[in-house]
Amino acid sequence: MRCEVVAVGTELLLGQIVDTNSSWIGEQLAAAGIDSHFQTKVGDNWQRIADSLRLALSRSDAVIVCGGLGPTQDDITRDVIADVMGVELVRDGVIEERIRQMFAARGRAMPENNLRQAMVPEGAQTMAEQPGTAPGLVCPIRWTEPTGEVVDKVIYAVPGVPLEMRQMVTGTVLADLRRRSGTDSVISSRVVRTWGHSESGVAELLADEIERLDQQGHATIAILASGVEGLKVRITAKGPDLQTVGQLLDTEQQRVCEVLGDTVFGFDDDNMEAVVSAALVGSGRTVAVAETISGGYMASRLSLARSAQAMLGGIVVGSAQARSALLEAAGLTSTAIEPASADEAGALAEGARALFGADIGLASVGPVAAGKPTGEIFAAISTATSTDTFAWKFPGDHERVRQFSCISLLDQLRRHLAATAGDSQPPRSTSPTFW
Ligand code: ATP
Ligand code: MG
Repeated sequence: MRCEVVAVGTELLLGQIVDTNSSWIGEQLAAAGIDSHFQTKVGDNWQRIADSLRLALSRSDAVIVCGGLGPTQDDITRDVIADVMGVELVRDGVIEERIRQMFAARGRAMPENNLRQAMVPEGAQTMAEQPGTAPGLVCPIRWTEPTGEVVDKVIYAVPGVPLEMRQMVTGTVLADLRRRSGTDSVISSRVVRTWGHSESGVAELLADEIERLDQQGHATIAILASGVEGLKVRITAKGPDLQTVGQLLDTEQQRVCEVLGDTVFGFDDDNMEAVVSAALVGSGRTVAVAETISGGYMASRLSLARSAQAMLGGIVVGSAQARSALLEAAGLTSTAIEPASADEAGALAEGARALFGADIGLASVGPVAAGKPTGEIFAAISTATSTDTFAWKFPGDHERVRQFSCISLLDQLRRHLAATAGDSQPPRSTSPTFW
């Protein structure tokens, strides 16, 4: 079974939108064991969309087309599909009713344009998931090969809005592809999240395991560096049923965890801030943050993790004056501290803790040269009994530096919370080398 992706939208060609839909769909197809050899981007133009669909159908069994299902005149995907199928668009009463009700529920009048979205190519089915007004379509195609042989193919049309697209691909498209491909095996994956080793370091540690799995053929391991989301080790297993696949994943997860030890911080959707927030709430401790060049990033990640109970406050310190003001407000003396140093990180962590009355203060600071962070970061964790400082050097641009400093400091907090869970041992003062 081969399936390719066609992303529709002139904005994609102009670079106004990055085509993250195609990469996400590509990842899902790979995980489901479906071959996907081409991805196309095409503007909102009838002839070029039709050409792209025909070309895709000529070399694949199925095509997922995303975008252009909106209500406006330039949303022509459904019209072009009907053209390629050689059928007319017909009004789907159920979809029409659904769209009317969506507007009624929001107390808004429905623009007539939206009824375009209830127009469906004759013979196509609509998908059960419909989070927005655009229905997803499963369009069967009788395709004539150059040899004259007629074969059954399919076009799946999903909206461009990533959230809607994902629901439909997960809910309908993947299962339909599997049914058509006639495979009765089940594929599933699990993600082990780690922090502390480089990507190549993890690859080296897992090399024997990856080799062993390659020879066995039931499961695979892929390593994916994902910025502030950590380094992901994705285990994918294939088997006759869910139970067998679940057991394979459990066994493999355990092996990976044994090899990677305490650098493993979570699984699947658990990111570092979610893990740390849960540990804070679990131990009844609170935290406050002060940061310079990360500009509120750490506070924002922590508040996104819904840790309102544990996260008491955050402050961005942009200048030496602001630093002194924070320390004075916290009732600490503002002595002359070298900016962007371990001492500054320590003082700000104490300041944040005192100012917000938290159990733990976190801080990260870094020098800026020619308007850019140098990649050098000093960070600190302050408690009532001690202050630990860390010094790191991260590669990359500003965005990468703040992501790495955020996850690295939260990882130290995770380790601190684990080391002090249930007792009052002082935290380990380590400065691991990441790169
Ligand atoms: P709808 O049918 O829900 O109105 P649509 O199918 O017409 O949407 P577009 O109008 O092309 O889709 O895009 C809607 C939104 O989805 C845009 O804001 C855009 O940011 C996002 N989007 C569209 N295509 C992609 C893509 N390939 N990758 C990532 N985001 C996309
Ligand atoms: Mg559009």
